[in-house]
Amino acid sequence: MTKLSTQSASRDRSIGGIKKFPKRHLLVVTGVAAAVMTVIGLLPSSQVEAKRSEMELVIDGHQSDDQKDSIKETLKAVANSAPSVSKAPSVSKTPKVAKETEEQRIAREKAKQEAARLAAEEAALGKWQTLTVKSGDNLSTLFNDAGLSARVVYNISKTPKLGKKLTDIRPGQKLKFRVNSEGTLTQMRYVQDRLNSIFYEHTDKGYTAQKVTLTPEIRVAYAEGNIKNSLFLASQRAGIPENMTMELAGIFGWDIDFALDIREGDSFNLIYEEKYLDGEKLENGNILAATFTNRGEVFKAVRYTDRDGDTDYYSANGMSMKKAFLRTPVDFTRISSRFNPNRLHPVFKTKRPHRGVDYAARTGTPIKAAGDGRIKFIGKQRGYGNVVYIQHPNNVVTVYAHQSRVNRKFRKGSRVKQGQTIGYVGQTGWATGPHLHYEFRVNGVHRNPMTVKLPDAAPIAKKERANFKAHASKILAQLEQHSGTMLASNQP
Ligand SMILES: [Zn+2]
Repeated sequence: MTKLSTQSASRDRSIGGIKKFPKRHLLVVTGVAAAVMTVIGLLPSSQVEAKRSEMELVIDGHQSDDQKDSIKETLKAVANSAPSVSKAPSVSKTPKVAKETEEQRIAREKAKQEAARLAAEEAALGKWQTLTVKSGDNLSTLFNDAGLSARVVYNISKTPKLGKKLTDIRPGQKLKFRVNSEGTLTQMRYVQDRLNSIFYEHTDKGYTAQKVTLTPEIRVAYAEGNIKNSLFLASQRAGIPENMTMELAGIFGWDIDFALDIREGDSFNLIYEEKYLDGEKLENGNILAATFTNRGEVFKAVRYTDRDGDTDYYSANGMSMKKAFLRTPVDFTRISSRFNPNRLHPVFKTKRPHRGVDYAARTGTPIKAAGDGRIKFIGKQRGYGNVVYIQHPNNVVTVYAHQSRVNRKFRKGSRVKQGQTIGYVGQTGWATGPHLHYEFRVNGVHRNPMTVKLPDAAPIAKKERANFKAHASKILAQLEQHSGTMLASNQP
């Protein structure tokens, strides 16, 4: 893994090989490359700083309640401390200022007005209070502790549509509420998680409510790693969390066997999203583009969403990263019987070909459809027990036998997508233990599921090709550029 020398903390933070680029809006993926360049390449750090501090003083409808609260606190602090600043600033955050600039004066004036407005609002609606739900709590116990009557509980839970949601409260969640001088619960916010809350408000006709959903800020980050022994160790060193490493392995897993093919000297890099709220990272988003170099061969993948809203990963020339079929449709513990045209049958002790593969797995393990298709048969058959047949394009049929139960959602003729659960491992029919008996038939002929050459999944649609090409070349160039700068700045 490489390390980047940090030049400016605000412009280009570098932690363990990850560069983070602030980005203010959720961009259409095609815009990502350009946006990254703009932010890191063009904006001097002072401008970025200026923008940030400016934003902290603006209150608008897009901010969360917490954010507003914290802004209000800040404003109050400013309003209260401002007159005494020149004397003896008690808070070290505010450096002693000899002369107040015009800008500062306006900000202080604004803060004062805002503080006054808030004070008036508080007098009318009451102070915000917060209750944190503990295990065993319900609305009645919580309100009782807060000195609110059973009548209030009754009234607010009768709020049209969203009143019932209050029975869902879970430990750790918060209820923020205000009670005015007459003892009326005027407003309440049920904070379900960082992004979702329900806002209740008292009116003459009882309570009304609305859902409030915050959109996280999406930032784009870059990371790269060099492999010494395993992808996971290399990712760890690069500061990439495990679930993202899994995703990366999933994208390239159709071309590279991460258990067998990985060699020292292999490398990877990626551009991915990070979701932020109030400057705090919530979680990682999608991998937008990645390359993986395995034994000198370079694989590239680009995430692309088409006009129908379908998202997938494609190679630089628009081929799907996937195959049309999963090699193994179940997470198995071991292969209990291979494809063998001359096998002795374990139950009948006669020479009977084994025309599929048996994957031993615990009863109840989900079985995935190996590819897109339609259900050709779903139900019971003598030796196969509960079995599903899927008809795929190009005369391919896959068979999944001995299931403990099939997925009732499907019936004959149902469409099924690759990876959907069609049933669960069992030992119905002629089976000596729980396993999936899996067959792959081409033009009616049984082929070995472990070795049959699997066709590629459909490439990018013709009408999407121009769009995709433009997007792919941009973001892949971006990936290459960053990889270049990281290496260059890493020379000892
Ligand atoms: Zn079998």
